[in-house]
Amino acid sequence: EWSLKERHSRLNSHAARYYHRILMHEAAGEVAREYLLGRGVRPSAWERFCLGFAPGVGLEGFLKENGYDGDALVASGLFTEHYGVLRERFRGRIIFPIYDARGRCLGFGGRALDDEEPKYLNSPESPVFSKSRNLYGLHLALPAIREQRRAIVVEGYMDCIAAQENGFTNTVASLGTAFTQDQARLLLRYTNEVVLAFDGDAAGSAAAMRSAGYLQELGGRVYVLDMADAKDPDEFLRLKGREAFREALEKRTVPFLEFKLERLLSDSDLRDVFKKAEIVKELMADLERISDHVVREGYLRGIARRLNTSEEAVRLEFMRHLAKRR
Ligand code: ATP
Ligand code: MN
Ligand code: MN
Ligand code: MN
Repeated sequence: EWSLKERHSRLNSHAARYYHRILMHEAAGEVAREYLLGRGVRPSAWERFCLGFAPGVGLEGFLKENGYDGDALVASGLFTEHYGVLRERFRGRIIFPIYDARGRCLGFGGRALDDEEPKYLNSPESPVFSKSRNLYGLHLALPAIREQRRAIVVEGYMDCIAAQENGFTNTVASLGTAFTQDQARLLLRYTNEVVLAFDGDAAGSAAAMRSAGYLQELGGRVYVLDMADAKDPDEFLRLKGREAFREALEKRTVPFLEFKLERLLSDSDLRDVFKKAEIVKELMADLERISDHVVREGYLRGIARRLNTSEEAVRLEFMRHLAKRR
């Protein structure tokens, strides 16, 4: 007997193949081919990520020919049923199959070709598929993550594809700004060093804050990449190229606490001692999450120096923070 997950992923694999064939070979896929080429996504990536296109009709017949009945189709989340008539969930969208670490296809993301809302649509959450428990591109990134002992986390499908296609094969996407505790746990199975390369907007930097918290609690070493003036890694790579991205990864990643400190400093006036004190307090919970004493000590010093106060003062505040937590 096949487990629920196996059956689900088998049906999904069939659907992925159907969408992929349309992108690769059918006339109906022409709009999608133009779209992807226009965004610099080459056919090699269409293959590697098994990208596809959903015209919106035809999937029902294809799956039924392959032995699936109506109930299985509805249960897959790929259809909705209205008075016994099935309607495809993804219509006129670029398809991104989502795989687990073992390469089983568990769900899909679909991007609109124009400004249609929502821009992205996903397979519905179910006992076998949860967006927040998977990482896009992980099955492809695993060998590189293991070899380099480091993973890059980006927000979007397109960021992940652009990064991997440019040689940064250790990249996975969180599928939105909400990188979760489950995703942190999943990723840390394979490496404990993570570079967060989220979008350069406020949402991205708020996500970096949250994600770093989860990762550090679980013992991860977290760096943050400064996106400079680019919107996201996909745009960064298109505008500035892979060498600039490589250089940014080497020279413009900072340990998470430093990133947070600089962010706090950027909207604060250091001549105000109360602001200084606030910043120190803001950092205490992060400091507490760091279990390595040498690392914590380094941060304590760095904070004191940057805030132009004494190490002693920062240390006393930290002790007080710990005492209050008990
Ligand atoms: P593009 O470059 O194609 O415009 P993006 O990846 O830059 O897309 P963002 O708006 O930055 O788009 O969103 C990042 C990621 O968040 C997306 O790749 C997708 O996984 C997820 N996402 C965005 N909008 C939605 C949505 N409306 N529903 C579900 N997921 C979404
Ligand atoms: Mn193929
Ligand atoms: Mn983006
Ligand atoms: Mn983008």
